[in-house]
Amino acid sequence: MTSIFEITHKDAAGRIGKLTTAHGVVETPTVMPVINPNIQVIKPSEMYDFGAQMIITNSYIISRRDELRETALRDGLHSLLDFDGPIMTDSGSFQLSVYGDIEVTNQQIIEFQQAIGSDIGVPLDIPTPPDVPRGRAESELETTLERLKDARRMVDAGNGMLLAGPVQGSTYTDLRRRSAISLSEHKFDVYPLGAVVPLMESYRYADLVDVIVSSKKGLDPTAPVHLFGAGHPMMFALAVALGCDLFDSAAYALYAKDHRYITVLGTYHLDDLHYLPCSCPICMSHTAQQLQQADNCKELLARHNLYVTFEEMRRVKQAIREGNLLELVEQRCRAHPRMLEGLKRMYTHSEWLEQHDPASKSTFFYCGPESADRPEVLRFSKRLERFTITGSAIIRSTPSKRDQDYDNILTFKSPFGSYPVELLEVYPFNAEVPRTPDHRSLTRALENTIRLIELNPDAEFTFVCDGDIDHPLLEELSRLATVEHPDTT
Ligand SMILES: [Zn+2]
Repeated sequence: MTSIFEITHKDAAGRIGKLTTAHGVVETPTVMPVINPNIQVIKPSEMYDFGAQMIITNSYIISRRDELRETALRDGLHSLLDFDGPIMTDSGSFQLSVYGDIEVTNQQIIEFQQAIGSDIGVPLDIPTPPDVPRGRAESELETTLERLKDARRMVDAGNGMLLAGPVQGSTYTDLRRRSAISLSEHKFDVYPLGAVVPLMESYRYADLVDVIVSSKKGLDPTAPVHLFGAGHPMMFALAVALGCDLFDSAAYALYAKDHRYITVLGTYHLDDLHYLPCSCPICMSHTAQQLQQADNCKELLARHNLYVTFEEMRRVKQAIREGNLLELVEQRCRAHPRMLEGLKRMYTHSEWLEQHDPASKSTFFYCGPESADRPEVLRFSKRLERFTITGSAIIRSTPSKRDQDYDNILTFKSPFGSYPVELLEVYPFNAEVPRTPDHRSLTRALENTIRLIELNPDAEFTFVCDGDIDHPLLEELSRLATVEHPDTT
């Protein structure tokens, strides 16, 4: 059996991939607009115009209304929605989480999704919210795993409908990981990360990062991952960099209903906008005031929201191709202090990120103190053992006429540290960094320099402070090397 998911390009833990379904191949990462079968603000067939390749709808809602159910069973889901591309169906788990109990069994909803011709079906898992007592998270996870295994037995692999295996476990990272490992053994086709919406609604991006990373650690890295319920473009770059491939947006319509205007830097209330900071067809043909007063304001807003959603996903994909996804993540995460917390948390997982990050890509751009914790910096510090230095060595930032007096010439560059001058043009040492390093960058560089010196006790080091360097670690360095200040020599 050929793989249904093929990864073509990588950056950080993010990737561009091709997902094969019964109704065609989609390029990931991508967003699936959520279609409410009862109320369609925008017709599913129009979704292609915005850049959508795939949509998602709710099979439980279809099964509950006679008219919809009968049409879907008779003519198929694609005919019901008038959409000929891939359609994923949700199972009613969301309704279960909101209303407590729903009138359908796991087996019934799986059979129904197969009968109407869904491309990706979801079993009736239990979306355990964040912060519940551990006992509840564990017992609900047991039930979810049983239902998912039952579903896997019911749906033949490689025969029409792909089957999603949602990863649950609330905010317990060990449960998320255990859940992911257990599901991987049963070979699901797509792995949604479930019950993360409450984290995003309360801007808990740091916790969201932990949930994604712990789940990913338990999954086969070549499997497609769906961040279930994530549709705000502001966090696409962050989530993609952590290895999420599929997203779904109910936000485009829900936000529009509340007169909220989505941008990649956050959300505006339409009434607060004096100008429209967007060049989509809607924003170019209306002023802010015209949009506020339009009879079909909600529909127009939904269209704008979709345009910016897909624009950002294209930007993320371009960043993967260029190898500067982490730069985009760092820019996006500066839009909100809680996003910045997400960025900082992401880099606490640099050890894991580093395993996925390509060893060579386009120029590293230093975007702020967080960049000092990037996987490339960590990778260099792990490889310091590889440098064997004997005899005399000069460490300096810029070439000096004294270079020739030494056996070894090392370049000092924050946030990396000191490395042989021959590597100057090699990734990541060809990084673009500020001329005046910040404290965090300098800390990393001096820590690495001190370790390099300690690893080579027989060599004699001279460290030239030719940059604008002032840092407490210089004192420690001066015990291991001759520290010279250009003014005094
Ligand atoms: Zn617009």
